[in-house]
Amino acid sequence: MSSSTQESAADKRADRSAETFLEGGCFCGSIRYQVPRSDYPAGNCHCTMCRRTSAAAFVSWFVAPKTEFTIVKGHCEELESSEHGKRYFCSSCGTPIACELAEHPDVIDITICSLDDPEAIEPRRGFFTDTRLSWAASPA
Ligand SMILES: [Zn+2]
Ligand SMILES: [Zn+2]
Repeated sequence: MSSSTQESAADKRADRSAETFLEGGCFCGSIRYQVPRSDYPAGNCHCTMCRRTSAAAFVSWFVAPKTEFTIVKGHCEELESSEHGKRYFCSSCGTPIACELAEHPDVIDITICSLDDPEAIEPRRGFFTDTRLSWAASPA
């Protein structure tokens, strides 16, 4: 195989990776992850724990099978935010990355805004809207 053939094969792999995977990570770049591109369920969570751990009005999440979520660089710090919830974030820059809930052991919630392309997934429903802030305008 000539070296030019190898290069084009590598180019093709890179193209396919961008088409096939959604990629994301934290603000400082210590943590990078991949998840296959798919039409994942997604919503905005207005619960008080999301609000405080992100210091934002609400957090937009998508839900993927746990087996599909791969950390390709770095290591997430864990926080047990409740008896039935564990949050994963970057210990260097604090970016919230993911959350696991005991009642849904097969899936992982991933923050839409840690994606390189947050437009790739649109949150279509709201959770814990009873604790939504009065000024947090959001269709979901
Ligand atoms: Zn970071
Ligand atoms: Zn929440």
